[in-house]
Amino acid sequence: MSLIQVRGVHYNYPGKKDALDGVSLDVGEGEFVCVVGENGSGKSTLMKCILDLQKPKKGEIIVSHRIGYLPQKTEIQSNFPASIEEVVLSGTIVNHIKSIWYTKRDRAMANRVMKDLDLYEIRKKCFRDLSGGQQQRVLIARAICATEKVIILDEPTNGLDPSISIQIYEMLKRLNEKRKLTVVMVSHDISRAVQYCTRVVELKDGKVEFDGQVKDYRVGGAKK
Ligand code: ADP
Ligand code: MG
Repeated sequence: MSLIQVRGVHYNYPGKKDALDGVSLDVGEGEFVCVVGENGSGKSTLMKCILDLQKPKKGEIIVSHRIGYLPQKTEIQSNFPASIEEVVLSGTIVNHIKSIWYTKRDRAMANRVMKDLDLYEIRKKCFRDLSGGQQQRVLIARAICATEKVIILDEPTNGLDPSISIQIYEMLKRLNEKRKLTVVMVSHDISRAVQYCTRVVELKDGKVEFDGQVKDYRVGGAKK
C-alpha cells in the first residue's frame, strides 16, 4: 500500500526556474528510501511539498498518514534550552486535537521511543549540552513521536563524523526492520547512506534521474 503518492509535481520559487519539474513517485509501507542528488537538485523542496509545507504549482500529492519530519539542520535547534525528555515529548503535540496537555499515552510513547533510541537513561540532560550526533538522535525521536508509521529526514547526518553517521543509519535501519517504520531520508552521503536503504531515488535538476534498488544504482558510472 502506498503511504505517499507524488504525481507530476512542479514547483518553482518566484522568479526562478522549476525546482521540481514533473516529479512522480510512490512510497510504500515498510520502505527505506534514500533520496540523493546534487545540491540544488530539489530534494528539500520535494520533501516540503510532500509535507504540505509548500503547494505544488502543478500535479498532485496524496498522503495517507501523518508524517514525522526532521528538517535540514538549523542553528536554533542546537541552542534549545530544554531537556531531552521535553524535546522528545513535544513531538507528540501534533496528535492533540483539543488539549494542550500531554496525556499518559504521549508519555508512554515518548518513553518507548527514548528507550528504542538509547536516550532514556540520559533523558534529563539538557539538549544544548549534547554532541551533534546525540542532538540528531533526539530530534529523530521527536519526529517519530508524531507518528509511528512514516518519517522524512532531510540530511540527518550533515556535519556529523562518519562513525556517528553510520550509527544513525544503523538506528534507522533497525527502526525500519523492527518497528516497521517507513523512512524517507535525504542524504548526500551517497556511498554510505545507500547501503542501509531498500531503494534509491536520485533527483537531478528537479527531475527523477534514477528510481530503483540499491544494487542497480551507479554513482558516476561505478556500480554501488
Ligand atoms: P536540495 O535540497 O536538493 O539542495 P532545494 O530543494 O533546496 O535543493 O533547492 C532546489 C532549487 O530551489 C535550487 O535551485 C535552490 O536554489 C532553489 N531554492 C530552494 N529554496 C529556495 C527559496 N527559499 N527561495 C528561492 N529559491 C530556493
Ligand atoms: Mg536540501
